[in-house]
Amino acid sequence: MKHTLEEMISQADIDAKLDALAAQINKDYADVDNLLLVGLLKGSVVFMSDLARRLDFDVRMDFMTASSYGGGTESSGEVKIVMDLANNIHGRHVLLVEDIIDTGRTLSKVRELLMTRHPASIKIVTFLDKPSRRVVEVPVDYVGMEIPDEFVVGYGLDYAERYRQLPYIAKVIPA
Ligand code: 5GP
Ligand code: MG
Ligand code: MG
Repeated sequence: MKHTLEEMISQADIDAKLDALAAQINKDYADVDNLLLVGLLKGSVVFMSDLARRLDFDVRMDFMTASSYGGGTESSGEVKIVMDLANNIHGRHVLLVEDIIDTGRTLSKVRELLMTRHPASIKIVTFLDKPSRRVVEVPVDYVGMEIPDEFVVGYGLDYAERYRQLPYIAKVIPA
């Protein structure tokens, strides 16, 4: 599809949101040892690396890939784990790191699965949230920014695997 991009969230705004998120997380986890950041590939990679460098305690990192069947622009209810975690999370404090929450289906399934492994705690941080699109309720503990129902790219988010490297968030405008 022919399209153009229109900047929606600047690099400076992203930095400010990161500072605020990290300040809150630093406070909430001050007394917790061994936090495990679990990033959902691939979208969360950029956000997770920026967030982690703002945390003032030692963390571990792990990743998983979830894909949802459906073919359309919307994720289906069927979420498949394409790549699972390398670590056992039993008894661990887990912070799930997501790029964006749309319908909530992906994160809800991933959270359910991880809960069966008995972590000590599990929380969710997402950089972006489109609350108007929610189909499945999922408890989100930290949100960088709420956005309207627009398809966005950059800062880890792709359009057909493009634009993940952009240092800002942009709207995709059909040309
Ligand atoms: P959900 O299961 O919450 O509907 O889907 C969340 C996933 O869909 C995100 O992790 C992301 O991969 C993708 N997604 C949802 N909205 C957008 C968007 O505006 N732009 C991009 N690039 N991906 C999105
Ligand atoms: Mg994602
Ligand atoms: Mg994608």
